[in-house]
Amino acid sequence: MLHKPLFVLAHQTQYPKFHSTYKNVVKNQWKPYDEQKVQQEKQLRHMISFAYENVPYYHRLFKELNLSPEDIRTIEDLEKLPILTKDIIKSNWEDFKPATLSSMKYYEQATGGSTGTPFKYRLLKSDRFLSAALLYRGWGYAGYELGDKMAFLAGSSLGVGTKSVLDKKIHEVTRNIRKLSSFDMGENDMKQYNDILNSFQPKSIRGYVSSIYFYAKWLQENDIKIHNPDYVFTTAEKLLPHMRETIGNAFECDVFDAYGLNDGGLGAYECPEHNGLHIDIERSIMEIVDDNESQIDEGTGDILATSLNNYAMLFIRYQTGDMGHIIEDSCGCGRESKLLKEVVGRQQDMLQTPEGKYVHGAFFNSYLFGNINGVIEFQVIQKSLEKIVIKLVLSEDFDEKQLESMLSIVKSKSQKWDVEFKLVDHIERTKAGKYKFIVSEI
Ligand SMILES: [Zn+2]
Repeated sequence: MLHKPLFVLAHQTQYPKFHSTYKNVVKNQWKPYDEQKVQQEKQLRHMISFAYENVPYYHRLFKELNLSPEDIRTIEDLEKLPILTKDIIKSNWEDFKPATLSSMKYYEQATGGSTGTPFKYRLLKSDRFLSAALLYRGWGYAGYELGDKMAFLAGSSLGVGTKSVLDKKIHEVTRNIRKLSSFDMGENDMKQYNDILNSFQPKSIRGYVSSIYFYAKWLQENDIKIHNPDYVFTTAEKLLPHMRETIGNAFECDVFDAYGLNDGGLGAYECPEHNGLHIDIERSIMEIVDDNESQIDEGTGDILATSLNNYAMLFIRYQTGDMGHIIEDSCGCGRESKLLKEVVGRQQDMLQTPEGKYVHGAFFNSYLFGNINGVIEFQVIQKSLEKIVIKLVLSEDFDEKQLESMLSIVKSKSQKWDVEFKLVDHIERTKAGKYKFIVSEI
């Protein structure tokens, strides 16, 4: 019972406006979409005029395009501005510093990124706590309340394994959480996780898709029953239907997926209706654009982020590198925020054919492995334009006859591809502990 006040206090001491911010965004979720959009565009106008006045890069950009801040008043107006890439930020690093930076409280952040090259940016302190408030609200769609017991199964990006032992202990106690590292997932480690979960009895478990899935598989294969949480939250990687099923069965609970991108300030969370992920509107504007860089309300395209609160580093139409599928459906839960049906993968998760075509990684996910039995994990590696290696971790259910049909499905994308299947015991994780199912070496 003491956990909620302690949890709130731990945040309040760092950021006194935390609790009011949280209560505010919780209220916000039930507002009609039109009202939310009005609020968003008010924030947008404020941010645009700040960018024009204080950020040299944007001032120059507006001048070059013959635009004034008054030209960007709505979400639709953003189309007048070009897409911002990481390369543009890197080569104009100094010009992205606002004139008033020295008066701001901010953190220096870096993302590992699946491209391997770390990308640096600044995150305003108030924005970090807004992001936390939105995260807790998002978990709240499933039933989470501040201070509820939670176990984390994750690598560095969720803050596991980076702090000293004492810091870690304090952090765990004040926030009522336990952290299990996804870097250590041997048999003995997982037995230890069982003990921790059985004695701690968390209400929820949160972590990387691949780590939780791996653990869930192991529990099932060994027929181990452990404490069942009320729900599992997955993040950071693509949650495939068979993974959702396995996780749900092993922990005997509902699974909720989420999408988050700190550098763009994006977040989207699933509700119990499971119609897609409700897109947050308080921290940023999410645009989904087609090949002509035009906004779409339905369909698949690049995800762009425009930060509304991170004045220490303003991202306007920032290319996240992710692609998303947006739908116009309304959700039965009553929330009117827009729905991201799925994040279909990162742009770099593309394969190329010798004919010069691109094949999206989602092809392998949904069309190929979605219909094949007995594939526990896979990884598609493009060695060269012509050479594709597909690593497979198989269960006993796998029928080798399926290899033939798999080959012909892959070949349907390019007859010139030389495809090799390799059976392996496990798929290696990236340095950040993530599982990549598409690797391009060209
Ligand atoms: Zn909903």
